[in-house]
Amino acid sequence: MQVYKFGGASVSSIDRIQQAAAILSVRQGQPLVVVISAMGKTTNELEKVAEAFYRGARAEALDLFDSIKQKHLGTFAALIPGGNGQEALVDLFTEVEWLLHDRPVREFDYYYDQIVCIGELLSTTILHHYLAHAGIPNTWVDVRDILRTDATFRDAVVDLDYAATEAALRLTPLLAEGRTILLQGFIGSTSENESTTLGREGSDYTAAIFSNLLDAESLTIWKDVEGVMNADPKLFPEARVIPELNYAEVIEMAYYGAQVIHPKTIKPLQNKHIPMYVRCFLDPALPGTLIHDRPVRDLPPIIVLKRSQVLLHLQSRDFSFIGGQTRLLYTLLETAHIQPNLVQHGAITVQLCVDDKGDRTARLTEAAAAHFDVSAEKGLTLLTIRHFDTDLLKALTAGGTQLLLQETPETVQVLLRQQ
Ligand code: ASP
Ligand code: MG
Repeated sequence: MQVYKFGGASVSSIDRIQQAAAILSVRQGQPLVVVISAMGKTTNELEKVAEAFYRGARAEALDLFDSIKQKHLGTFAALIPGGNGQEALVDLFTEVEWLLHDRPVREFDYYYDQIVCIGELLSTTILHHYLAHAGIPNTWVDVRDILRTDATFRDAVVDLDYAATEAALRLTPLLAEGRTILLQGFIGSTSENESTTLGREGSDYTAAIFSNLLDAESLTIWKDVEGVMNADPKLFPEARVIPELNYAEVIEMAYYGAQVIHPKTIKPLQNKHIPMYVRCFLDPALPGTLIHDRPVRDLPPIIVLKRSQVLLHLQSRDFSFIGGQTRLLYTLLETAHIQPNLVQHGAITVQLCVDDKGDRTARLTEAAAAHFDVSAEKGLTLLTIRHFDTDLLKALTAGGTQLLLQETPETVQVLLRQQ
């Protein structure tokens, strides 16, 4: 069997949904799991609904939600004349509207997940009905019945053993019949049936989990770009598609900020040696990028930027060596659910470059301040260049102040304060 994943941009309009259907029609009769994101920018819009709700601005939240609702109803009506099956959408809307009439009594992240998860439920419901209408039989499955998670709302951790059992039970028989199965990316559920999300852009990760659990021949991620590029073409016009990469290269690129694939996607694939294709949804004839576990030589320089970085500077108060307190340091990071992007040790100081995760970063700073003198600088950019040369490094760091630099024969990373 194979797994396909369509991102938000691949289902953002009527044309694009029709294009997705055309791609799927080619695989009819062969076992296929299709993981789908929310349409276009729906997740961003739902985030605004959650924020307004939590602020107590009920009318604003309902208003914002209504425009999401109208958009989805409009798409449904345009794709399926007569609107057969529209009740399924209406049920989903009602669930959220109910919640929006409540008053928040729990933490923000909980409400965020209950509201935001609807994006993927809506997009898959539309696709399900449209495909059936277009003569492509398919089964819609609520992924929350399979991806049981813990209750870390907005960054939930999937129970893979539970998922393996449920996937075998619910999906394997359908695949044996050569069915096409539609699943929502990005979402899961706790044992209490509360919805959770796996972190922004997490649908790639969902697709990788199912590839792993179902021993897929391959995973194909359909995107609106030609493949994986060596830099963001919006920032570097000379960026080009890389035809072949290996897992290690891609996980480094993704972890350090390349937008192309979610960093958590690689591990489930690597663990079972499943190849991944990144292909252009707008032009399926293009070869795209193949990602596998064999070495790839002669790669061009790969440039990625990670913004919203914080540099934490920790110093021991009594001049005891920082090196003797590494366990404490990493316990603080683990407790805050923050992974350092760069670490630089000195005798009595350590500098940590971390993502700015809002509250979580604030909690980390606070917890660290109980043991160390702490200072923090926000709004920084981490530049990573793999397979670099010094001219390129010079050119790319020209406009900023270098706060931290680390270099290996293969990779250079610079933390920059930009003007
Ligand atoms: N819809 C979610 C997001 O935009 C998940 C995804 O697209 O992968 O973050
Ligand atoms: Mg998305």
